[in-house]
Amino acid sequence: MTKNQPILPASTNPSDFVIATIGSHSALQILKGAKDEGLKSLAICKKGSERAYESYGVADEIIFVDEWSDWNEQLEEELIKRNAIVIPHGSFIAYMGHDRVSKMQVMYYGTKEILKWESDRTLERQWLEKAGLQLPRVFENPADIDKPVIVKFHGAGGGFGYFIAKTPEQFQEVKDRKYPKENDFAIQEYIVGVPIYAHFFQSPITGELEIMSFDKRYESNADSIGRIRAEDQLAANIHTSYTIVGNIPVVIRESMLQEFFEMGENVVKVSRELCGKGLFGPFCLECIVTRKLEIFCFEISARIVAGTNPYIEGSPYTALKYDVPMSTGRRIARDIKQAIEQGRLEEILG
Ligand code: AMP
Ligand code: AMP
Repeated sequence: MTKNQPILPASTNPSDFVIATIGSHSALQILKGAKDEGLKSLAICKKGSERAYESYGVADEIIFVDEWSDWNEQLEEELIKRNAIVIPHGSFIAYMGHDRVSKMQVMYYGTKEILKWESDRTLERQWLEKAGLQLPRVFENPADIDKPVIVKFHGAGGGFGYFIAKTPEQFQEVKDRKYPKENDFAIQEYIVGVPIYAHFFQSPITGELEIMSFDKRYESNADSIGRIRAEDQLAANIHTSYTIVGNIPVVIRESMLQEFFEMGENVVKVSRELCGKGLFGPFCLECIVTRKLEIFCFEISARIVAGTNPYIEGSPYTALKYDVPMSTGRRIARDIKQAIEQGRLEEILG
């Protein structure tokens, strides 16, 4: 147990606990999953963004804040009083910031130390390389660009602001025009292939690694450029961008499952050498699969990703394993429920 954790409640009754998260990203399935597994659910919403959480009836309670900076000790006390277990998701980390997350006193599902490894590009790369994954080449110096690259500015939330270049000059032109003052960016080899996001779940309670589902993203304007003729694309001088708008379900070739299982297992194995309890709960390997069926992994998300949202009623893969509709949100709640019932709460908290 870390020093930031409160004293754990002794109850082994799941209904004495509340699953809490910020109202955004994948909160609908997280909250519904909690209710399906017999726990209570609570959404923390910024005023004016509560509509979906009210309308779909997934939250037993909604707590409002004016700004995310209002997440303070008083709010945490409210959560602790309710035996709340907080579930991090993409917006949660984006709005709270890593520092605040690591200092939270309230019970938190997942390993906080892993945030350092996924948010620092160098550390993330070390982790994935050690796990034997194939990664896109990285260009440390823009002058070395000798093939198409994708340029990612730090904090380019949801893919907004990425751009493609194929020469040092082209890189400089776009950078100077769009990001004259920004110097925190990564230049990656652009892998030609299809994006596949693989959603995993590693349970500390069962010890098993599961593949929950796969998705691809619906990105603006990358997914719309093909709707006009090549000449029109050139005439309009469109720069490709990757602003995430939604997620589309994918089922992959069955023969590729073996490799994805091995990739997930190796990433978990290495994470245990890197920090404490290692990676557990939901995570995602963000990959591009080439025409030769090589799988390049360009990023890991060490938490639930929004690409699991199409599967609130379960995916084709979870349908094979479970006799109830098993979303990733519900899988989290089940892990927590089993931990509570077996008196193993400490094992799933970071
Ligand atoms: P939002 O609350 O929708 O503004 O999202 C906040 C952050 O969460 C974004 O900047 C993204 O990094 C991430 N995010 C939200 N929705 C998605 C999605 N469907 N896929 C991937 N990332 C997302
Ligand atoms: P991200 O926000 O990092 O998940 O990436 C946004 C999008 O950029 C992905 O959905 C991919 O379509 C694309 N992308 C990211 N990295 C690469 C890469 N190295 N090669 C090709 N496409 C990439």
